[in-house]
Amino acid sequence: MADIRCAFCEIPAIREREIVRNEHAWAFPTNIPIVPGHVLIAPLRCVATVEDMTSEELAAIFGLQTKLKAALKKAFGAEGFNYAWNESKMAGQSVPHFHLHMLPRKAGDTGIYEYEPRQFLYRPGEREASPEEELKAVAALITRSLT
Ligand SMILES: [Zn+2]
Repeated sequence: MADIRCAFCEIPAIREREIVRNEHAWAFPTNIPIVPGHVLIAPLRCVATVEDMTSEELAAIFGLQTKLKAALKKAFGAEGFNYAWNESKMAGQSVPHFHLHMLPRKAGDTGIYEYEPRQFLYRPGEREASPEEELKAVAALITRSLT
């Protein structure tokens, strides 16, 4: 499998996992689900990031998200959902084809409870809230960097 650039486009077994599609997007179960019913929603076109997508493709992805929400409640008794996407290899994007992770959550499942992104996105472990001045400085730095 070393020559595969995009698993979603090049591995037929993944295409065969299709749950639903619309004009610009499709959804399928991920190969290593965190919880039962963990699905991925991807544009049909092979593009890596949000800004590579057209507004029609973005709308198509969220159209499927709405549809799947009802289906995952019915099929897996979902009581809530986690959504995530990784962008670039550095951030854990293993397939260079945009995909929104959608995880149906319910009491007693195998995922992390009381979801706290800071526990695994950055600086694992105990951490104090940043001082207000530091947060304002960060906000100002980003504002100055907006184009
Ligand atoms: Zn692809």
